[in-house]
Formats: sequence, C-alpha cells, structure tokens
Amino acid sequence: MSAVLINAAALLLALGFRRNRAVVLLAILTAGALALSNAWSALPIARGLDAIRMFTPWLLLIAVALPERRLLARRNLMVLGGLLLASWLTLAAPAHVWSGLRDALPLGLIAQEPGKLAAILVLLAALVCFLRGISSRLMLDWMLGVALVLTSIALLPAVPSTAKHTLLALAGASAVIGILHASYRMAFVDGLAGLPNRRSLDEALARISGDFALAMVDIDHFKQFNDKYGHAIGDRALRAVAARLRNLRGVRAFRYGGEEFCLLFGAGQKRNAREICENLRTEIADMRLPIRSRNSKQNSTTRTLIKLTISIGLAERGARLRSPPDMLIAADKALYKAKAAGRNRVVIL
Ligand code: GH3
Ligand code: MG
Ligand code: MG
Repeated sequence: MSAVLINAAALLLALGFRRNRAVVLLAILTAGALALSNAWSALPIARGLDAIRMFTPWLLLIAVALPERRLLARRNLMVLGGLLLASWLTLAAPAHVWSGLRDALPLGLIAQEPGKLAAILVLLAALVCFLRGISSRLMLDWMLGVALVLTSIALLPAVPSTAKHTLLALAGASAVIGILHASYRMAFVDGLAGLPNRRSLDEALARISGDFALAMVDIDHFKQFNDKYGHAIGDRALRAVAARLRNLRGVRAFRYGGEEFCLLFGAGQKRNAREICENLRTEIADMRLPIRSRNSKQNSTTRTLIKLTISIGLAERGARLRSPPDMLIAADKALYKAKAAGRNRVVIL
C-alpha cells in the first residue's frame, strides 16, 4: 500500500505545483500501484497484473509525449478518460469480457506475453523523459524518467511481487524529489536568465559572513535596445549576459530584477573583484549577438551582429561599509556613477 500512498502524495504535490504532465503520469502510476496492491479483494491479483501490463505502458507513452498544458486541456482529459475506462474495465468487466479483451485487443498482446514488452514500452516512455530533460535541463523531467525506469523494472516477469511494490514506491519517491526540486526552482531561480533570483540573493546576504564584495551589473540603454530590436531579442540578450555571469569562477551571480544583476564575491575572490568586473565588462562589450532581420523591400533576410554594453558598480566590504544592505546601496551608488560617467565602465566605491 505504501507504493500507492507515495505515488498519490506525488500526484497531490504535482497538482499543487501545477506540473500537469506529472499529474497525468502520476495518476497512471498511482492506478498501477493500486492494481497491484490487493486493495480490493474483488480484484484478483492476476487481473491487476494483466491490467498494468495491458494499459499502463500505452497510457504512459501518450502522457510523456504530451506538452505541458493546463490540466483540463483536451489531450490531458483524453488520457485521464482512458485511465478511467481502463480502471473501470479492470474492476467491473466480467471474466469472459476480460479474457475477450486479452485475446482480441492489440493491447492484449502484451498481456499474453508476460511483461517484457510492457517493460520495454515503459522504458521507451522513460527515454522520452530523458530526451526532454536534455533540452529542458529540468530535474523534474529526469526524475520522471527515473520513475519510469523503476516502473519498467517492476513490470518484468522475473521480479517478485514484494520487489514490484518497492520499485513502484521508489518510482513515486523519485517523482516527489523531481516535483520538490521544480518547486524550489520556481521559488528561487529566475526562469528567463536561469540564475538565482532576488529572493535567493536576500537569503545569501542574510547568511553571509566574513569578507566579501558585491557588484551591481546593469545593461546599458536596454530600453532603447528593446525598442529597436524587440523584446524577444531583448530576452536573448539578457540570457546571453546571464550565461557570461554564470560562468564566472568563484562568483555567485543573481538576477536582481529587470536588466540588473548582482555579483557576490566571497573572501577568496574579493581581491580579484575589480579585475573580474573589468574583464566581464570587456567580454560583454566584445560579445556579438547574431540576429536575422527582414528586409521587406528586397524580400530577403540578412544576418546582423548586434552588440551591447554593461555598467558595473562595485562595493568592497571595509571599515565603513559592513552590512549587506549598506553594501547594496553602495554598489547601486557606484553603478549610478558609472552611468553618469558615460556607461560601459566599472566604478568602485
Ligand atoms: P540605463 O543605461 O540607464 O540602464 O538605461 P536602460 O534603458 O537600460 O534603463 P531603464 O531602467 O530605463 O530600462 C530598463 C529596460 O529593461 C526597460 C525594460 O523594458 C527592460 N527589461 C527589463 N526586464 C526585461 C526582460 O525580462 N526582458 C526584456 N526584453 N526587457 C526587459
Ligand atoms: Mg539599464
Ligand atoms: Mg536598470
């Protein structure tokens, strides 16, 4: 029964955090765990096994292929409807109808064959999750893939029944980890830049001790940039700058808000902070962003390289400057001076 409870808990978490593909997937896994759990004495265990081999792989394959949509989107409802129908057939179909299903339906083919084909299909669904994980780089996709690999092993005929329950429970636990991680990301990571967000910075500053330096980074004339190239290109530029900040060694980068970022230099990097900021400024100034622009007169597209610059205000902790809020104010003042002095420069306070 613990496999059912863990999968149901994962399902509720997915519902709470609106990870709708995970909701559909976990509804299928919970129903599968229920079919194996002896919850109803009326449901013979052999039929439960048949049912998860016949229905689960197909439903899972469709569920993982679905794009992330609202829960009541038609495609999600179709899979959930299919799950309800499968559950109803499993519970209510008379014996002769059930054996007819096993013989007649193409679904039945995999029930005849004791589990291997079903396991392979679920493994295929896991592969879809992993491929999605490569492009999305979201831990949730990877953990759902792990959950499906465990489910696939549970379907193998050689695996004893207690091990099946344990594997399904572990599958639910993997999904829980993935969903909790997704919720952590929602709270602490900026979706566009892929950097820790302002809340994360506040927590880091509340915990900081020892020597440190703090820099505010701001893209120059970004409003004009957006006006000229459009917000989509503006977003790409933001991501490109964020990627450079993420790659700085020994420096923690945050998206402070809008086109502003914050860099935290720990004690080890404090003395290099000026040099790092200066290198970063030149690196961004040298960066070229390729865009395609359409020439409507000649009906052609041309590739243009565009550039942008940043200004940086740096505050180093010292006798006068001690508290993190004071450091933030000082870095902001330094940034303001950098802007006033003509932008594309680093000012230290
Ligand atoms: P300055 O050199 O003085 O910093 O000028 P600025 O134009 O960069 O500064 P301003 O504060 O006037 O404008 C900031 C602009 O940043 C306005 C807003 O449209 C843009 N911006 C903020 N967040 C985003 C975002 O997530 N995506 C895009 N594309 N633009 C953003
Ligand atoms: Mg700006
Ligand atoms: Mg700004």
